[in-house]
Amino acid sequence: MKPERTLHPATLAAQALGHVDPATRALVPGIHPSTTYLREPDGSYPSGRVYSRTENPSYEPAEDLIAELEGGAGCLLFGSGMAAATAAFQSLAPGDHVVSQDVMYWGVRKWLTQFAVPWGLDVDLIPAGDLTALEAALRPGRTKLVWIETPANPTWAITDIAAAAGLAHAAGARLAVDSTAATPVLTRPLALGADLVMHSATKYLNGHTDVVAGALVTAQPDEMWERLRALRHDAGPVLGPFEAWLLLRGIRTLVLRVEACCRGAAAVAQRFHGHPRVREVLYPGLPSHPGHAVAARQMRGGFGGMLSLCIAGGEKAAIDVAARVRVFKRATSLGGVESLIEHRASVEPPESKVPRDLLRISIGIEHPDDLIADLEQAIGL
Ligand code: PLP
Repeated sequence: MKPERTLHPATLAAQALGHVDPATRALVPGIHPSTTYLREPDGSYPSGRVYSRTENPSYEPAEDLIAELEGGAGCLLFGSGMAAATAAFQSLAPGDHVVSQDVMYWGVRKWLTQFAVPWGLDVDLIPAGDLTALEAALRPGRTKLVWIETPANPTWAITDIAAAAGLAHAAGARLAVDSTAATPVLTRPLALGADLVMHSATKYLNGHTDVVAGALVTAQPDEMWERLRALRHDAGPVLGPFEAWLLLRGIRTLVLRVEACCRGAAAVAQRFHGHPRVREVLYPGLPSHPGHAVAARQMRGGFGGMLSLCIAGGEKAAIDVAARVRVFKRATSLGGVESLIEHRASVEPPESKVPRDLLRISIGIEHPDDLIADLEQAIGL
């Protein structure tokens, strides 16, 4: 039985919506490896399941929980965050106009310019968080989707979701939000007017650096959602049952982990703000961040676990700092229990606008004092 909506997200997540297996009374759902389901002599499928490409019951507990945490009408899991993001664009038609950001997770930006544009979407990229540019880029009747990421990789630029939704809707477009960095613990984009939320579930939702997965959540079971369901079924960018099971196990501790990541990130940001060897700390929780005021309104309970340090002395100095860390791990990705550091310009394509001196940091759940001490020795002074 589904618990009352009044329960807190921490309770809903910890109990996976109170899941109890109807057949065994197990508290943990099973993993269903079967790819196919028995058909009766009369040709019917009493279980309602035909084939596992989209009807595997192992997806459902995680989908139900993510939908509930986001306050959505439904969730679809995908084989990766990129599979989820690209499905949203593929549900449009050639000739449709899309507005997105010039600074965001580079993989989505690269896919838009290298695959979506040749395929027929008309794409405009505006400065992240700039509502005036968004309004100017919208083409009423032709713009079908506005895709924002907030906070946005790797400057953590903030977009006012409610304002962006208002502008998109006035032009007849939907608003989709890549909310990977915010998580449903800190921001619920659908309650602010967004139509679609996307997560790289590889990150905070799973949280243990051992599953690649994606999720889309819809505000309404509308015609775009039906296209997305059909697209996942027909194109098949699905998750394996074991990964879906691991994902649910990870989400059970989401709230605790995000709270710890926020505390650690705030402590690191405050320690290095104004440090003589740090040109700038980019963290929406700092009043110096350009998105701070909007983030303070739109994010509840913290500003996230992601920040970037721009190192005085430029690219080489930044790479040297990353080379000297002992507790942080030099690796790409984010949102896991272990803290990661990455010289971002080395990862993104040459045309990327990422500052060359920027180190992207994902704070995990380690003790903040250990992380600060590690960065202090790596940065020096
Ligand atoms: N969106 C954001 C904000 C990301 O950080 C990433 C991956 O780093 C993605 C989307 C893509 O997700 P995945 O790696 O799960 O395909």
